[in-house]
Amino acid sequence: MDEKIKEEASKDNYRQEPKVGVYICHCGGNISDVVDVKKVAEELSKYPGVTVAREYPFMCSSNGQDLITEDIKNLGINRTVVAACSPSLHDLTFRGVLQRAGVNPYLHEHVNIREQDSWVHKLDHAGATAKAIKLAQAGVEKVRRKDPLNAIRVAAEQRVAVIGGGVSGMRAALSAAGKGLEAVILEKGPRLGGKLLDLGRLYPSGEEASAVVKKLEDLVRADKKITVHTDADIDFVGGFVGNFKINFKLPGGKSQQVKAGAIVMATGYEHYKPYKGEFGYGEAANVLTLPEFISLMKKLPAGRLEYGGREIKSLALIHCVGSRQVEGVHKPQADGKINDYCSRVCCTAAINTANQIKEKYPGVRIYDVYRDIRTYGMMHESYYEQASKNGVLFFRHTETDQPVVTSDRTGHNVKVKDVLTWGEELEFKADLVVLVTGLVPSDISLIKSQMKMPSSADRFLQEVHLKLRPVELANAGIFIAGAAQYPMDSTEAMASAGTAASKAGILLAEPDIPLEPFVAVVDEKKCTGCGLCPAECSYDGALTMSEKNGKKVAVVNPALCKGCGACVAVCEPRAIDVAGWTLAQFDAMVEAIAKE
Ligand SMILES: Cc1cc2nc3c(=O)[nH]c(=O)nc-3n(C[C@H](O)[C@H](O)[C@H](O)COP(=O)(O)OP(=O)(O)OC[C@H]3O[C@@H](n4cnc5c(N)ncnc54)[C@H](O)[C@@H]3O)c2cc1C
Repeated sequence: MDEKIKEEASKDNYRQEPKVGVYICHCGGNISDVVDVKKVAEELSKYPGVTVAREYPFMCSSNGQDLITEDIKNLGINRTVVAACSPSLHDLTFRGVLQRAGVNPYLHEHVNIREQDSWVHKLDHAGATAKAIKLAQAGVEKVRRKDPLNAIRVAAEQRVAVIGGGVSGMRAALSAAGKGLEAVILEKGPRLGGKLLDLGRLYPSGEEASAVVKKLEDLVRADKKITVHTDADIDFVGGFVGNFKINFKLPGGKSQQVKAGAIVMATGYEHYKPYKGEFGYGEAANVLTLPEFISLMKKLPAGRLEYGGREIKSLALIHCVGSRQVEGVHKPQADGKINDYCSRVCCTAAINTANQIKEKYPGVRIYDVYRDIRTYGMMHESYYEQASKNGVLFFRHTETDQPVVTSDRTGHNVKVKDVLTWGEELEFKADLVVLVTGLVPSDISLIKSQMKMPSSADRFLQEVHLKLRPVELANAGIFIAGAAQYPMDSTEAMASAGTAASKAGILLAEPDIPLEPFVAVVDEKKCTGCGLCPAECSYDGALTMSEKNGKKVAVVNPALCKGCGACVAVCEPRAIDVAGWTLAQFDAMVEAIAKE
């Protein structure tokens, strides 16, 4: 069927009397082990407006989808209700079935009888079945009142703005350019490379960090589709999917603007900075963080390890400084919270460094003081095994019994209550203490607040769903790459950057972007122009007051509206509805559920 015919068919379907098909999924036992799906189908087949009701082991399978297509063809079904898993998993699947069969895809209602029913009422089969019937009936009432909708199309800039020029940012820009898009990297620092600029030989590749950065930077600089701005001070990010605007200043330069269809946030992380006196940091001599030590070791010749004018013969690595903090044991951060998350990369980084110290300065004694060693990742355990072979001595403490470092002019004294020797109090001397500091989120508060970007409990940028939408922010058109999302090593960071760029590429594959039509719609005849709704709206520019035909009315920008319904709630004359989720539909659903 060609596009034109499809559109005609869709209109015809709308004009016809609603004929609802209801499809109950067993979800391979996830639902049918608890809910009597045959009974649900039987009850629904008698419900007013329902032409056919069926149950099937997997409605989302191609055979299940074919059942619906056949009913559309043979029975003239023009609206569907699928009672199955969460709509976030398969709403789009079934909308696709309708579209392919020539029915407007928004004349579908997805009812969740798995997460909201069978999974939460496992021990009450009769109750779960009765609930499934009610939910499906409510779905029928809603779909009967649905209007066909069309996706909103927004013209998009064919350009990706990448904020942050570390390895993730460079990788994202290269991938976007490889897809034919222009990419602009905005890096606040003077150079590309991010934290890798100060690192040495990297795990797992064994490559020098500077070589990795150079390789990427050479590719970036050679690509005509990529523009790089270093020392870029971003002071404004605004707009919406397809039409973002980023204002930034360069040193001595006037304000500039980049327009982009999509944004990749590759703003990375910062090293945790120990507070003054934390294990002697900032107070005693010869207490460094791991990044400081790595950066120092890079510059020192092999043979004799020297720091602060003296030879270092022994060194203590103390893990989990600023990570996996414990309430009541550790000092809270500036916002009153503790960093209770694991920074993931620091164990392997510390042990990789210990092995490199042994290689460069074989005589140095290394004590490794840890709570748990987490050398996750393919073959990373080998770093730990190698360190043991190299004679690194490991001491393990509990979460509440932290090691204690006391320092004087002769060096440091480290005390540990060691789990490996059944709680023995051990004590050793070290010339240098290296604090294995964690990773904390970059301060991007200005951009975050301007774009209302969500943060996780750990304050990193938060994706929509770790499995289903792992690099997307809830803000349409904004993607996350690398350690801006959570602590990750550079291979993980670059993989996530490639995914983010692919997502941006898919979004910008066409000159205009289709957006969901579930946005606020104002009935201008009913609108009294009171102005309460824009005050309630959380999305800048989505809802404004405007003069129309000599009357003040609320006006929606569909590209910015998120369909949250906050405006609906404050509109006394009921002049606003969210398309696809109208008040009349909700009323009918509630009535269907409440009916005896
Ligand atoms: C001690 C230590 C050792 C490590 N060793 C290894 C190792 O051996 N192997 C490995 O694979 N990984 C290692 N890592 C991890 C590695 O550092 C990260 O995986 C990598 O840096 C992540 O890259 P990124 O681009 O996501 O973030 P970053 O490197 O942090 O880069 C982010 C960039 O964004 C810029 N930026 C931030 N905010 C803004 C803004 N508002 N505007 C513009 N630009 C902005 C920053 O200036 C920076 O250039 C180690 C980490 C630590 C702490």
